Amino acid sequence: MFSQQFHAWAHSTKRRLPPAVVALQDAGLLVSRAGHAKHHRAPFNNNYCIVSGMWNEVLDEMKVFEVLEMVVFFKLGVRPRSWSEPSSEWTEEEVEVEAEIKDPVIMVF
Ligand SMILES: [Zn+2]
Repeated sequence: MFSQQFHAWAHSTKRRLPPAVVALQDAGLLVSRAGHAKHHRAPFNNNYCIVSGMWNEVLDEMKVFEVLEMVVFFKLGVRPRSWSEPSSEWTEEEVEVEAEIKDPVIMVF
């Protein structure tokens, strides 16, 4: 029911999240930014789980989502985005965060 909200929180930085959400992410009950970031990096075909992420490793090892992507492609003709270059939405945010970390002046403001 709240899976998309959990996903949205995984895209946010800790300082922008309520402390309770950060605590749940740190405890592993909700997917963390670091855990979910793997989904948005090459090869872009893993770590699909957006609630706790606890099943990602098992499902990735079993190639469950790769199979589902092929089923969707052969049944509907829709190519998964993991088969081509992803949008830059995630990487732009990541660049912004990296710039803040590298430049302490930005962190002060
Ligand atoms: Zn995401």
